[in-house]
Amino acid sequence: MVTPGYDETLLQQLRELLGDGGLRIEHDEVLPDVILRPQTTEQVAGVLRLCSAAAQPLVPLGGRTGLANGHVQTCGEFGLSLERMTAIEEIDTHNRTLTVQAGCILQVAVEAVAEKGLLLPLDFGARGSATLGGIAATNAGGNRVIRYGMARDVILGLEVVLADGTVVTSLNKMLKNNTGYDIKQWFIGAEGTLGVITRLVLRLRPLPRSENTALLAVDSFEALIGLLHWMDERSAGTLSGFEVMWPEFYQYITREGSLHRPPLPHGSAFYVLVETLGSEPELDGERFETVLGEAMEAGLVADAVLAHSQSERNALWEIRDDVLEFFKLGPIIPFDISVTLDTMEAFVEHIRSGMAAVPEPVCIVFGHLGDSNLHLILGTKTAAAFDHEALGTLVYETVQRYGGSVSAEHGIGLSKRDQLHRSRSAAELQLMWAMKSQLDPNNILNPNKIFAAETPGRG
Ligand code: ZN
Repeated sequence: MVTPGYDETLLQQLRELLGDGGLRIEHDEVLPDVILRPQTTEQVAGVLRLCSAAAQPLVPLGGRTGLANGHVQTCGEFGLSLERMTAIEEIDTHNRTLTVQAGCILQVAVEAVAEKGLLLPLDFGARGSATLGGIAATNAGGNRVIRYGMARDVILGLEVVLADGTVVTSLNKMLKNNTGYDIKQWFIGAEGTLGVITRLVLRLRPLPRSENTALLAVDSFEALIGLLHWMDERSAGTLSGFEVMWPEFYQYITREGSLHRPPLPHGSAFYVLVETLGSEPELDGERFETVLGEAMEAGLVADAVLAHSQSERNALWEIRDDVLEFFKLGPIIPFDISVTLDTMEAFVEHIRSGMAAVPEPVCIVFGHLGDSNLHLILGTKTAAAFDHEALGTLVYETVQRYGGSVSAEHGIGLSKRDQLHRSRSAAELQLMWAMKSQLDPNNILNPNKIFAAETPGRG
């Protein structure tokens, strides 16, 4: 078989290395045409040795659920998919660790450890398709970061294959291990530009036995911050969710004729979904109600509705999670950014006043407030007035002005490459590029992602 535009010798070597089903060719406008499907770390190393020698670029592929276009092809890359490396190698109940191959799907891992009474505390909408390798490569966040941290905080060890095929096995299981550089952190969040993650050790926690959820109405941003600190201080370390919806979000999702009935009336300044995860169902429930009652007395909460069953809990979360609804409004762009809590209110005001110039503007704000992470959905109901570039400029210039981060939890990929300089100094970018050049001198690992090779350190 001859594949136009590709090195036929290299393809033949890869076919021999990977065996039956190890190489798939398809034609896709976005993803790479040639997909390599190794089954072992040794095969991944072989692929990298061959591609390094032939200067053939690669895009490591996970579940392809990222929103920064880290997985698309830009210059004839081959895709390196770990979809055949999905084994759960060990659930170690003594050390409370999970060892998996990088292609393992998040939900599969979560369910497997739950059977042993343990929690893998990573959770977000794409749990049914995101792979643990991709989650590590993008340092994914999600809904419980306030309690358990980002992917970076859950990963104890990694096995990585470098661009030249060197296998670095660093499958540490210990929480304390200060033996020189923490090598795994170089690859977490590197979006496949420094090495290919093949196996991981993840830290497990006890499975929570109680879950308390409430939707609250709050009158001011000041009260919102007061409430966050109040809940954090009085929940004995159990606070696991503090999801804020600005009124436009809540009112649209619970509008008349929508799927969701409004558990609280429209008209408040903010709506907050709070959640705690604990170990003592009765005590935790009582404490949750007491803490919320006191917050009301202190004037931090204007109105509240508590979930009394799993179906009520789900109904509250469904309001927060029904983000796809906003695509019905017209052409929109979702943004994922961070700003510090003390600048957040002014930041949102700045965006709102910028949007006032747009005909029939769509300006939806929500986010993981405890993590400084806001999601903005901006656009217009007048399709002809939609200006993709102007909206991006508004958001990223404002982020820069307030000293925030152009990416909170979705990475840089291709989509935010030209914005990176707004959140990172020239010295930081040069250091990143120095690592990239050292570990991947031929620039074969996910080239053109995070930064363009020809312009490191600009800005
Ligand atoms: Zn999010």
